Amino acid sequence: LNEATSPPYYPSPWMDGSGQWAEAYAKAQAFVKQLTLLEKVNLTTGVGWEGEACVGNVGSIPRLGFRSLCMQDSPLGVRDTDYNSAFPAGGTVAASWDRSVWYQRGYEMGKEHRGKGVDVQLGPVVGPLGRSPEGGRNWEGFSPDPVLSGIAVSETVRGIQDAGVIACTKHYILNEQEHFRQPSTVDGIGAVDGISSNIDDKTLHELYLWPFADAVRAGTGSIMCSYNQVNNSYSCQNSYLMNYLLKGELGFQGFVMSDWSAQHSGVSSALAGLDMTMPGDTGFNTGLSFWGTNLTIAVLNGTVPEWRIDDMATRIMAAYYLVGRDKAQVPINFNSWSLDTYGYQHAYAQTDYGLINQHVDVRYEHAMSIRSAAARSTVLLKNTNNALPLSGKEKFTAVFGEDADNNIYGPNGCSDRGCDNGTLAMGWGSGTANFPYLVTPLTAIQNEVLQYGGVIQHETDNWASQQILALAQQATVSIVFVNSDSGEGYIIVDGNEGDRNNLTLWRNGDTLIQNVSANCNNTIVVIHSTGPVLVDAWYNNPNVTAILWAGLPGEQSGNSIADVLYGRVNPGAKLPFTMGASRTDYGTDIIYEPNNGNAAPQDNFVEGVFIDYRSFDKNNITPIYEFGFGLSYTTFSYSNINIIKATPGPYTPTTGTTKAAPVLGSFSNDTTEYQFPPNLTYVATYIYPYINSTNLSTASEEPDYGLPADKYIPAGATDGSPQPRIAAGGGPGGNPELWDVMFTVKATITNTGNIPGEEVVQMYVSLGGPDDPKVVLRGFDRLSIQAGHSAEFSADITRRDLSNWETTTQNWVISSYPKKVYVGSSSRKLPLSADLDL
Ligand code: BGC
Ligand code: BGC
Repeated sequence: LNEATSPPYYPSPWMDGSGQWAEAYAKAQAFVKQLTLLEKVNLTTGVGWEGEACVGNVGSIPRLGFRSLCMQDSPLGVRDTDYNSAFPAGGTVAASWDRSVWYQRGYEMGKEHRGKGVDVQLGPVVGPLGRSPEGGRNWEGFSPDPVLSGIAVSETVRGIQDAGVIACTKHYILNEQEHFRQPSTVDGIGAVDGISSNIDDKTLHELYLWPFADAVRAGTGSIMCSYNQVNNSYSCQNSYLMNYLLKGELGFQGFVMSDWSAQHSGVSSALAGLDMTMPGDTGFNTGLSFWGTNLTIAVLNGTVPEWRIDDMATRIMAAYYLVGRDKAQVPINFNSWSLDTYGYQHAYAQTDYGLINQHVDVRYEHAMSIRSAAARSTVLLKNTNNALPLSGKEKFTAVFGEDADNNIYGPNGCSDRGCDNGTLAMGWGSGTANFPYLVTPLTAIQNEVLQYGGVIQHETDNWASQQILALAQQATVSIVFVNSDSGEGYIIVDGNEGDRNNLTLWRNGDTLIQNVSANCNNTIVVIHSTGPVLVDAWYNNPNVTAILWAGLPGEQSGNSIADVLYGRVNPGAKLPFTMGASRTDYGTDIIYEPNNGNAAPQDNFVEGVFIDYRSFDKNNITPIYEFGFGLSYTTFSYSNINIIKATPGPYTPTTGTTKAAPVLGSFSNDTTEYQFPPNLTYVATYIYPYINSTNLSTASEEPDYGLPADKYIPAGATDGSPQPRIAAGGGPGGNPELWDVMFTVKATITNTGNIPGEEVVQMYVSLGGPDDPKVVLRGFDRLSIQAGHSAEFSADITRRDLSNWETTTQNWVISSYPKKVYVGSSSRKLPLSADLDL
């Protein structure tokens, strides 16, 4: 794998309007037909870093009243503005295993972006998937399980786009760590290339590509290619990833946008399938672009075929029409670079002073669903002798930990949440939003206790051991809040460069828990974290009577945890990852030091599909809390598994050829028409499509201009003739017959306790081969069941669910190994099972 290479695949597949895209495709073609070359280039190229109001902006088409497109973070709310909501993080709501929570959150986030004037929300995330638990941005995505992530991303995409905003599913692909994600400078080594995630075809299909396929099937309008290399080719110029897998096999109809400065070439990235460059300049504010002027030249001299730029523009406009942007657009009424009301329209150039922020409140009633989503995502890990729920009438409640209280700088006091002060409710980096307020656990618990006239006191200095001891000794119940943080690599928090340096609790958390539990025999621990943490030192302590994992709950943090602690919400969430006893138990880790001199660090994904629970199962390692685990205040029993066999037709590989690439409209070869317009004011470092000479060679400012095409144009890359279709393709997401139902599995779930509750019923399959995981998640449902009553669980098993990726035929195949289905309450508690008779 050290020699891993990525095979070429050309030409770049042109959009064909398949799946749900037909109408949007027709409208987009009609629009693009009217455009000049300059206008097409404007759609594909950002105006440069901090050039306009949004975190990313492409050029406008004033002639047709098209105002440009506004790209804005983040996957958990509108970033860099005010009067927006701060939603729970993706990795937190994953724990709800609740499709309606995911859809609702997506819809509400989309609505907030829409209200601010955003066209493209830069989320959701399914890359990183979460290969290593230390991965800095895992919390932005959902879960290291591809099926859980795949369903969560589909619901989120549908929600965002139903609200009239284009979703951008990111980062494609294998951006599994922050260290070396981009070319960087390392002390003692110098310039180091971006890391290469080296992977085999089977693992890519069965694990990391899986949720992207679901996002494509759900209609995601855009996909962001990632910073890293895959098999030693940068993702944003990797023809295998974009042309073959994404646009070919998965039939992706929308547009691929680069991550910010993830583009490293002009013609090559265009031919490899990139459709939009962000933020448009080669590096922040260089004033130069791989596209812009250079794309105009490349189309005029034929190195980028006309059909390719037409396809880029069509894909972008089709996404716009697909979600109804033509009807939903409102003026952009915020500015990413300042919260002031008045300021510069072009922040970097400091020109065009005027009204930049209208402070539009887009929160609606979203606080209610945010609170409920966070409570529904809180996992009960331990509950000895019904320590929980509390009544509120405890005589003396003591609250411990910095994590219970405010950040002394305020909830937004650290830029992009780049610190771990006070209660942790989101990680750090671009995947954040400003808090409108942050309800702390301490405030919410105090409100609770005061209703009943109890005593409540707190100690929120984690190192104040004397005071901690004294308070814990007085308490009837002690609630200890601890955390562990991570984020994006451009910010370093306490020595952690995005990725966590370890899985231990931060801020003296373990000692805090030990000090409290040594002095109070009713100690409840609440964990806020970006992923798994090590609990081995104290989880079994009998004085630790209850443990809750609350993830990163967003603005309503305190209220949501109080809802669970005081029993208004009966916990039903389940861990979306494994909590192991030690870091090495996971079998995967981050590369913290360059391992290849100043060439690209090599990250070999040698574990294959065995990450998280699949790895623990394979290596017979007992976790502390397994994937899918979570308790309730009631109990459930499982009975009566019943398998109904369906009779789908056979699986037919897609055959035949595509149509020829359409060419939309025509444009002039007269280079005098492409000069900077005399009446336009130049904005400093802004990226334009114009050329500054009528001679293309001079305009390119490129000494090697005119190199023979075969020296740098890959074979077939400019060919617009009909192309063979891909066997595993045939529609958005892949061959439609992969979703044929093979079996329906039913089971009876009974609430055997005394209060109503919700149970996430999980269905796993064993594919049976020697190289297959013991079990893989394939379905689930969150059922609400009254005390003493039963409910029926029902889930389908599709052809895709039973298939392995076969590299020789490049298709999905159901192996001849005997297969079984399991139903239960976690990946290791599977009381029901049955053979699948194929
Ligand atoms: C991040 C993206 C983000 C972009 C724009 C990049 O650094 O990787 O996730 O959308 O910046 O803020
Ligand atoms: C340490 C913690 C520290 C955190 C933040 C972890 O590696 O174990 O003590 O608070 O990093 O740097």
